[in-house]
Amino acid sequence: MSVLFENLRSLSATQGSGARLHAFASRLYPICRSITGAGVRETLRHIGEHVTLETVEVPSGTPVFDWTVPNEWNIRDAWVADSSGRKVIDFRAHNLHVVSYSTPVRARMSLAELRPHLHSLPAHPDWIPYRTSYYRENWGFCLRHRDLERLAEDEYEVVIDATLAPGSLTYAEAVIAGATDNEIIVFSHTCHPSLANDNCAGMAVAAELARLASLEKPRHTLRFVFAPGTIGSIVWLARNEARIGRVRHGLIIGLAGDSGALTYKRSRRGGALVDRVVPHVMAAAGLTGRILPFSPYGYDERQLCSPGFNLPVGRLTRSANDMYAEYHSSADDLSLIQPQALAESLYCAANTLAILDADRRCENRKPKCEPQLGKRGLYRTVGGTAPGQYEHALLWVLNQSDGAHSLFDVAEASGIDFRVVEAAATALEATDLLTALT
Ligand code: ZN
Repeated sequence: MSVLFENLRSLSATQGSGARLHAFASRLYPICRSITGAGVRETLRHIGEHVTLETVEVPSGTPVFDWTVPNEWNIRDAWVADSSGRKVIDFRAHNLHVVSYSTPVRARMSLAELRPHLHSLPAHPDWIPYRTSYYRENWGFCLRHRDLERLAEDEYEVVIDATLAPGSLTYAEAVIAGATDNEIIVFSHTCHPSLANDNCAGMAVAAELARLASLEKPRHTLRFVFAPGTIGSIVWLARNEARIGRVRHGLIIGLAGDSGALTYKRSRRGGALVDRVVPHVMAAAGLTGRILPFSPYGYDERQLCSPGFNLPVGRLTRSANDMYAEYHSSADDLSLIQPQALAESLYCAANTLAILDADRRCENRKPKCEPQLGKRGLYRTVGGTAPGQYEHALLWVLNQSDGAHSLFDVAEASGIDFRVVEAAATALEATDLLTALT
């Protein structure tokens, strides 16, 4: 048995990946994504250069639980121009300028008519807000409050060259086949336009994790899902309901690159293995992390942890949504995400998956008194000195392997690094002393 991601075992070994993660997030950043459309497909093409993806197209109008897959939205250009022809708002300058899912518009109107369709942030007059109108047909523009205040009475030309029409919703999966059908799922949302932390950073970390996992031989099948928030996870659950019992563990990765502390939000279950493993990984690496209780707001946990599924899936971010001022504005740009923060997120996620994959219950085949380890070549033969950590781990695994305790239970109880415990178990499994049960 080998534990996944051996080369990411230490935080310092992961640091080198930070610049690569930042570069990949930078490639995703300019793309105008939404919950459907060409931007999502282009994003998935970039991710597909790192790991083999299976892309799924779900037609508009498909019923999914209490929802319906919406029409597909694509935008080519948009602007507001004054009577002199000068563009006072220009989609080409920043894709946040157009409310996502705006219906097509081609009109001339007064400032008073235009004004209800304009959104700004008076508290941050230099930032463009991010606004959406997915499920109610409307149109709008977002702009810096400073620019809004400069708009004079005039007749404005308003153009949104977009289509909102039957098409499909696109998501993709990278599946790393394991020794069993039991699955670990990793979700990352793909629906935001030019916002770096939310969620180019999360997609970059999840894509790198998938690439690294594709080089491994996991016990569980690892399924990385890149889908739009809310409707994407609803679609995924609707299409996978029959096989949802295979999901043993899961992690949602988002907002993975800002300088806030790593933040883990527990699953609805609260005591799932992933809820114990993430704090263990943070503590073992000396990372100061925050642990949040479950709440029914956020990203894919809203669906994956809905009561009808209640999957053992937690969420790893840095600053959580709405916990940073730049959230959902143009200030969430590439300067907000840091290579070191991205690398830490990758480290934490990778080591969490490694433990979730390797954890198992074992049974001691010779539980009456200690078996003799020396004659099996497992224990140093010269006595008198205190045993090392590995020898302690052998004793802990044998003592606790009554079929009820898992190797992660042993690591928690003993305070010994999970990887040392796992290595001891693997050595014992190669003898007549220990059998893996799950
Ligand atoms: Zn968001």
